Amino acid sequence: MKPTQKYPFDKELFKGNVKRHLNATYATTVEHASTHAWYLAMARALAELTMLNLLETEQDERIVKAKSLNYLSLEFLIGRLTGNNLISLGLFDSVADAMSELGQNVTDLLEEERDPSLGNGGLGRLAACYMDSCAALEYPTVGYGLHYEYGLFKQSFDHCHQKESPDAWQGIEGYPWEVPRPELKQDIGFYGHVEVTHVDGKEKRHWVPGMIVQAMPWDLPIVGFENDTVYPLRLWEARAIAPFSLESFNNGNYFEAQHALIDADNITKVLYPNDNHEKGKTLRLMQQYFHSAASVRDILRRHLNAGFSLEELPEHETIQLNDTHPTIAIPELMRIFIDEKEMSWEKAWGICSKTFAYTNHTLLPEALETWDEGLIQRLLPRHMEIIYEINRRFLLEVSAKWPGDVSKQQTLSVIQEGFHRMVRMANLCVVGSYAVNGVAAMHSQLVKQHLFPEFNELYPGRLQNVTNGITPRRWLKFCNPGLSDLITEKIGDKWTSHLDQLQAIAKYADDKTFQQRFMAVKKENKERLAAWVKDHMDIDLNTDAIFDVQIKRLHEYKRQHLNMLHILSLYHRLTTDPDFDMQPRVVFFAAKAAPGYHLAKEIIYAINKIAEKINADPRVNDKLKVVFIPDYRVSIAEIIIPAADVSEQISTAGKEASGTGNMKLALNGALTIGTMDGANVEIREEVGDDNIYIFGLDIDGVNELRASGYNPYDFYQADPLLKASLDLLVGEEFTPGEPGKLRTTYDSLLNGGDPYLVLADFASYVEAQTQLDLDYGDQSGWAKKAILNTALMGKFSSDRSIQDYVKQIWKLTPVKR
Ligand SMILES: *Cc1c(COP(=O)(O)O)cnc(C)c1O
Repeated sequence: MKPTQKYPFDKELFKGNVKRHLNATYATTVEHASTHAWYLAMARALAELTMLNLLETEQDERIVKAKSLNYLSLEFLIGRLTGNNLISLGLFDSVADAMSELGQNVTDLLEEERDPSLGNGGLGRLAACYMDSCAALEYPTVGYGLHYEYGLFKQSFDHCHQKESPDAWQGIEGYPWEVPRPELKQDIGFYGHVEVTHVDGKEKRHWVPGMIVQAMPWDLPIVGFENDTVYPLRLWEARAIAPFSLESFNNGNYFEAQHALIDADNITKVLYPNDNHEKGKTLRLMQQYFHSAASVRDILRRHLNAGFSLEELPEHETIQLNDTHPTIAIPELMRIFIDEKEMSWEKAWGICSKTFAYTNHTLLPEALETWDEGLIQRLLPRHMEIIYEINRRFLLEVSAKWPGDVSKQQTLSVIQEGFHRMVRMANLCVVGSYAVNGVAAMHSQLVKQHLFPEFNELYPGRLQNVTNGITPRRWLKFCNPGLSDLITEKIGDKWTSHLDQLQAIAKYADDKTFQQRFMAVKKENKERLAAWVKDHMDIDLNTDAIFDVQIKRLHEYKRQHLNMLHILSLYHRLTTDPDFDMQPRVVFFAAKAAPGYHLAKEIIYAINKIAEKINADPRVNDKLKVVFIPDYRVSIAEIIIPAADVSEQISTAGKEASGTGNMKLALNGALTIGTMDGANVEIREEVGDDNIYIFGLDIDGVNELRASGYNPYDFYQADPLLKASLDLLVGEEFTPGEPGKLRTTYDSLLNGGDPYLVLADFASYVEAQTQLDLDYGDQSGWAKKAILNTALMGKFSSDRSIQDYVKQIWKLTPVKR
């Protein structure tokens, strides 16, 4: 590892710092410290190094003056920082050496870190990969998020049922990688009323909040790869203002304020555990406004401190909204400009609408945010007025473009009419942003054609595509050192920053020696995963088996139940057809279900029950095992992904916006079995038809089937294997003595109309799995396909995504340190 530090690493100094933290910060001694205390002290000592760089970067005059990205996201699923930062700092070997002189094994210490799970899934992980790439490429960036006290719940299984428990990710000692920035705190208002005054005959409107909450920022360092750049990920924590400062909001409603005091620190208590589903809860809207308001004020503070005028904001700051969750930042900036800075509407809008850009992540109707007008009115009365005015002016544009067309106005309006009038956050975002992007080519096409076709006419060029990506540092170099070393031996080490260069290993795809080495690395990674499973779940696995992996949130549209039906079909054939043979296979699942998502939890229960039976059934278990790994999170993904032979990406076509798990797995040499959905389409373009298993209905097929009236019973009756597989769910095969306990999934598929077309795709899925099974039998042929997957995934580096954003949308210039 090359030392790239501006300050050369001083081993003795570092050891001294670790010991100092052991004593002074963690109140223990070299003689008595636990492994956990050693980890904390090491991480603190490292964090100190990066904080110096963070402050230097922050104060670098070139960066102060440059145009910056502000990435606003309610979620940052960053994963463990210590190991990754060691790699970015180029200090892995030096620190391992220093720690071993202190009698500690660095790998063991790294295992002590608890994942900061400040996100649900893909959307939050994307934000983390983008921060990594911005720092690697040195585009000035500040990430803004929330400092939840409890991250995504921890999952365990209790008699095969999901059980949730709170995730106190900071631990009692605090998280070593963060520092509070009290000098940057903000006061954030809620509730209250709008005061109207008249100055020189002009009406002035002014919000008087009824409740004030303090926003305390915590900075986490985002360490640039082998450069000296460190950017802040700034997470806001809500704190109640002490009762004695009540007079500061005396003008507000006193009783509301009293009530508010009780609620204030609840605002950032817990991450909402819904993925692709919004439920309209007051506290969630409070989180959103709290996050937006604190971030916008911090951005303005930086901008004004740099000596720039408000008019110049779009030349110096761009604000990227990760989904609609931070939408309220748009009316908030308008409110500050108009009410506090006394700007005209026109001027304020001129600045605002050149500052924000919005990323759409989904077309699922239940995930598109709408907020009850009455709720916004109560919580943010002045913002509601501003939203009305934005909409009033916008609808004038609509009627100028389509005179007399009332239905156009209804479709496009920011306000959805009805018994409960609702604010459509996505519409507000499109109106208030200078660019809107989808997250994969196919998804962006659907955004243009189905979600916002009129917007596309009204604002040509505003709707764009930026295909998602993943950071090759975490998702190959760090998590798969065996493969990384093999690649580096062949093509040098520049691929970590220029992932396109991986295509240079394509020429070894037919090379038998290279194939063997590639598969030997895969085998080692499978052994590592198998050891983890033995350790934590006491299941024995055959590492020659196909490691077939589906790891992602549990959601009907992702169709874990289709995978489950395939397992049932294998079980059925193994137990009833003496002529049936297959490659040994281990099917891995890892997935959390939102605590309120009943069917998703039933699917977890069913898979667990099926696994329990199969893994103990001597008739099948030298061929088939099923492992549901609990508590899916980034650090588990880092163990599973390098070990995967097969990547399950089997969503109903048109439902998965992009996916990024698909990219991580293919990059690590897993072959995708998937539908024509999200970024699978582009992965296929890159790796070629021979190196991917595409099956099922494409989007036209889906639409045609729906239009012709889909009846799942037609498929059930016509396909004996499907019928046999499904029928296993209604007896007592997997729940002896308790027949029907797995009925919920069966009923949802047959009587619930099978909204995600699982039965329609079953036969095609089984056929693709059968081909895959045959291909795995030819290990050399399989190795070739796997190598080509790794070689041809360069496009999916988040560095490329960030370059796309910079060129198409953000227009930033890197500042090299
Ligand atoms: C990458 C990742 C995801 C996203 O996976 P998809 O398959 O794209 O849904 C979710 N959770 C974690 C922990 C991840 O690392």
